[in-house]
Amino acid sequence: MKYTDTRDKTVAVDFKTAVMNGMNAATGGLYLPTEFPTLDAAFLHKNPEPSFREVAFTMAKPFVAGEIPDTDLEAIIQDAYPFAPKIVPIDPVTYVLELFHGPTCAFKDFGARFMARVMSYFNRGQDSNLHILVATSGDTGSAVGSAFHNVPGIDVTILYPDGKISPLQEKQLSTFDGNVRALKVNGTFDDCQRLVKTAFTDTELRARFRLSSANSINISRLLPQSFYYLYAALSVQQRSPHVSKLENPAIIAVVPSGNFGNLTSGLIAAKMGAPITGFVAATNANHTVPDWIATGTYTPHESVATLSNAMDVGAPSNHERITAMYTLDQVRALFASYWTDNAGTLKAIRDCNEKTGYIIDPHGAVAWKAWDELRHGGIERLMAGAVSAKPEEPGLTANIPAWAESVSEKKAIALVLETAHPAKFGATVMNAIGREPSMPNRLEQVLHLEDHAVPMQKDYGSFKEWLVANL
Ligand SMILES: *Cc1c(COP(=O)(O)O)cnc(C)c1O
Repeated sequence: MKYTDTRDKTVAVDFKTAVMNGMNAATGGLYLPTEFPTLDAAFLHKNPEPSFREVAFTMAKPFVAGEIPDTDLEAIIQDAYPFAPKIVPIDPVTYVLELFHGPTCAFKDFGARFMARVMSYFNRGQDSNLHILVATSGDTGSAVGSAFHNVPGIDVTILYPDGKISPLQEKQLSTFDGNVRALKVNGTFDDCQRLVKTAFTDTELRARFRLSSANSINISRLLPQSFYYLYAALSVQQRSPHVSKLENPAIIAVVPSGNFGNLTSGLIAAKMGAPITGFVAATNANHTVPDWIATGTYTPHESVATLSNAMDVGAPSNHERITAMYTLDQVRALFASYWTDNAGTLKAIRDCNEKTGYIIDPHGAVAWKAWDELRHGGIERLMAGAVSAKPEEPGLTANIPAWAESVSEKKAIALVLETAHPAKFGATVMNAIGREPSMPNRLEQVLHLEDHAVPMQKDYGSFKEWLVANL
């Protein structure tokens, strides 16, 4: 498989180059596969449906063809995914796709663990370690740290702003040993990012050490997220005649979005033949993409802080990939879109719990709410032209997706992506429903581990000195 670039279609690099470069520094563009191979009908109609790892292997294979042999790919998948997504119907037409069963209890484990093993694979035979530097404002750092922990040939340095992330997040970052180290920086997230960026452009440092990033825009984080879309769509198809009394439902993936990597992965799955009829792009008050769908104009903003903070992105990188894959008209036919504010998010957690008994986290809640509105009158209002294009007000965007009738005729099932375990946001959930979600063991245990974070000043000189002494 060759990979091209969103900004220059003449670019064609192999998988290894795309992974190790992260992005195309020459153009500032993002890598995308040049084609999306359709999977065999026999595989898509397998009964019972394939396991998650079988789906992962089958989908990954064409993307690494000629660079990672099958037996090695199988080992990578086995090692990356000792856990699987779970699909939980919470009412006859709503299935929650739980993506939080990995070690850090958030969906980023799916992308980060695959990326870590692929990078380690491509780093074999080198006589020095590859050093990953990552600045984090919370969740990314723990997913990346955990994904690379004990992965051979690579070490990771995580920088986070001291006192500015939640105590649980801090424990998740700072308690690794061995090849993953955390620096608590006496400054802001922007200071952390500046330190990392300065290190990457420091020629003296680069001459001594092999440095790399583990950015969310890396193609090796995007591709594996498409695995769970296909896996889930195939299982919903097989379960819906029994659970929902629906043969061949339209399956609508409802995605709580920030940087739009997760949703872009869903688009890749759909192109490869996953039986997904449509998507709902659901955001918090950072509604740059819903505005674009509503008005046709793409205007990035500064991000604003919300209760679903992993979605606080005002300039989503993957917009560039979406527009490389689809025209705006195609997006308007494929997507419904929706945004809500903090009050709407709290109400969604409460309503979801009252109506279904399910405890949803503030990110998944934004998606659940979008679907709840669509199926309870929203689609009819859209079809009647009764939704106005007012981007400044929360709610649905005025475009009418091609699959609208399947919802009004009750032939659609939503797959609501639940991207984090609710216990990671216990205080918000408590605020919404008056009780705390129960804590999974692997989160509980982290609270008792010893903190190894190293205090760090925010000036580049101190940081560089530490790197030189410790890498
Ligand atoms: C990162 C994250 C998101 C947003 O995913 P994108 O791929 O950036 O759209 C949503 N929910 C949680 C819990 C996350 O960590």
